Amino acid sequence: MSRIVYVNGAYLPAESAGISIFDRGLLFGDAVYEVTAVIDGGLVDFHAHQQRLRRSLGELGIDFDPASIDLMGIHQGLRDRNGLDEGLIYLQISRGVADRDFLQPEGLEPSILLFSQALPLIDSPAAERGLAVITREDLRWGRRDIKTTQLLYPSMMKTEAVGGGADDVWMVDNGTVTEGSSSNAHILTADGRLITRGLSHDILHGITRAAVLDYAREAGLEIEERPFTVAEAQQAREAFATSATAFVMPVVSIDGQPIGDGRVGESVRRLRSLYIERSRERLTF
Ligand code: PLP
Repeated sequence: MSRIVYVNGAYLPAESAGISIFDRGLLFGDAVYEVTAVIDGGLVDFHAHQQRLRRSLGELGIDFDPASIDLMGIHQGLRDRNGLDEGLIYLQISRGVADRDFLQPEGLEPSILLFSQALPLIDSPAAERGLAVITREDLRWGRRDIKTTQLLYPSMMKTEAVGGGADDVWMVDNGTVTEGSSSNAHILTADGRLITRGLSHDILHGITRAAVLDYAREAGLEIEERPFTVAEAQQAREAFATSATAFVMPVVSIDGQPIGDGRVGESVRRLRSLYIERSRERLTF
C-alpha cells in the first residue's frame, strides 16, 4: 500500500503528489515546518506545535492563518489513512508559488503539504545506548527560533558527525552550546541541577524542551536557564537532547570525552520515562 500524503487540499498517493518547481519553499527555503510525534495513535503536544507554527509564519510574514484550515483533521486524516500508530507527521507551509524573485511577493496562496512517517520512537536503541556527539561552530543564520526549512548546515554537520563515527553534532556559538542538529541540548550538574540555554533567537524554542522542563520542575528538579560551555558539558554528570521524535535522548560523550561514566545515567533515564508517561496522558486523538 502506498503512503497517502496531503498536498494543497488533497489526499494523494505519495508517488502522484507534487508541488510546483516555482514553490518558494523549494527555491528559497521560504517555508516553515513542524514535526509532531504520534504514539499509541495519538498526537503529542499538537496545540503547542500549532502555536509555534503560527509564530514562525508571523515572523516570516507569510500571510496565512493556520486556523483557517482544519490542520488537526488533516493530521488525523493522515494518521487514519496510513494506519499510523507510532511515528511522526511532518507539516510544511511555504509562502507559495511565484516567478523566482528575491523580493517576497505579497498575496500568494501558501503551499501546504503534510506526510506521515512510521518510526519506532519509544523503544529506541539509541536511547538505550546514548549518543556520542561532536561539537562544531554554529554557522547557521541568527534567527534559529523560526522553524524554517533552511536546514543545510545542520544536515551537513550531522552527516559529518555520523561519517566520523559519532551520532550527532552539538553546535557552539561564542564558546557556548546552542543546540543539536535537530534537538535542544541540556546537562545535569553533579548536584542535580538541569542547565539549559534560555530562549532567544539563538535556538529553536523546542516544544519537547518546554514539556520536559515542566515535568522536571514538577518532579522537584532545579532548573537554570543559561548558556553552558562545551567544557562544562563534558564535566557534567549527565547530558541529553530533546526533540519531538527523540523525546529525551541521553548523550554519553562529547568530542570523545565520556560524560560521567560514559553510560546512560539514571536521571536522564527517569526524565525520558517521565516524558513518555506524561505525553501519553495528554495525547490528542
Ligand atoms: N532545535 C532544532 C534546531 C530542531 O530542529 C529541533 C527539532 O526539529 C529542536 C531543537 C527540537 O524541537 P522540538 O522539541 O519542538 O521538536
